[in-house]
Amino acid sequence: MALIEAKDLSLGYDGRAILEQLNFTVNAGDYLCIVGENGSGKTTLMKTLLGLAEPLAGEIVFGDGLAKDAIGYLPQQTDAQKDFPASCREIVLSGFQGKTGFRPFYSAEEKKAAFANMERMGIADLANRSFSALSGGQRQRVLLARALSATRKLLLLDEPVAGLDPNAMNVMYGRIAELNRDGITVIMITHDVRAAVRFATHVLHIGSTVFFGTRDAYLRSGAGRYFLRGEAWNYGTPVKREGWGFEAPAQPEPAAGISAERYFAEGADGSSPAEPEGGEKE
Ligand code: ADP
Repeated sequence: MALIEAKDLSLGYDGRAILEQLNFTVNAGDYLCIVGENGSGKTTLMKTLLGLAEPLAGEIVFGDGLAKDAIGYLPQQTDAQKDFPASCREIVLSGFQGKTGFRPFYSAEEKKAAFANMERMGIADLANRSFSALSGGQRQRVLLARALSATRKLLLLDEPVAGLDPNAMNVMYGRIAELNRDGITVIMITHDVRAAVRFATHVLHIGSTVFFGTRDAYLRSGAGRYFLRGEAWNYGTPVKREGWGFEAPAQPEPAAGISAERYFAEGADGSSPAEPEGGEKE
């Protein structure tokens, strides 16, 4: 059974829909990137997955033994968050809060696991440092370690690389890819469509067009081509949303369509895409 199945989902506020008839499936081990214009409803969708917002219609079915409170969440960065007066260790430990219940302390096992999560993110040496004194990249890895404390199955990441310099961004992408290789399912909101098609197994594109499918299908789609190559092919024309979302109006495929193989061999613009660095320097 799928980890998450969204069925005919409509999302919005005060009875007004911002997204309708959304259908997608996330299986264990998938890496789903959610892309789309600002204000298209990506964060609202993530809040709905977390149970923080109710859908206007439709449903989300959780399978594979996934409990709603066992999802690791990395929220969008805010300025207030940057000054949070706590050590890295305290922040990573706070990821266990959903599991402590009425117990007013963390168990030895949780403390050990928090340290293991910091090691996994390459920040164990920062354990006693103040969160506010860290670089942006280090802060995001602390928050990723915190999200990891809450789950062994599913991470929801809301723009985890926003505002990071290219090196810190690559380090973060490398860590997320490693977690996914270790079997953790990843759902990530991003504006970085090139990274989405580089790392994701599936893409959900929401906005004036809606697409859900594999990375390769996205690369072949009108929306994918537009965002990756700046081609306005098929974009902006009315698109029928139905069930599985994006349905391209009938028109011939452009002769020079981009294939996944070509994209990764040459880059979207003919240049070689940069490899994420494994290094930790920031
Ligand atoms: P995205 O993450 O894609 O930028 P959001 O999910 O944040 O988009 O917002 C989608 C739309 O819903 C926007 O028009 C936004 O103004 C509106 N919206 C977001 N949060 C609320 C809220 N709490 N109440 C009413 N409208 C909201």
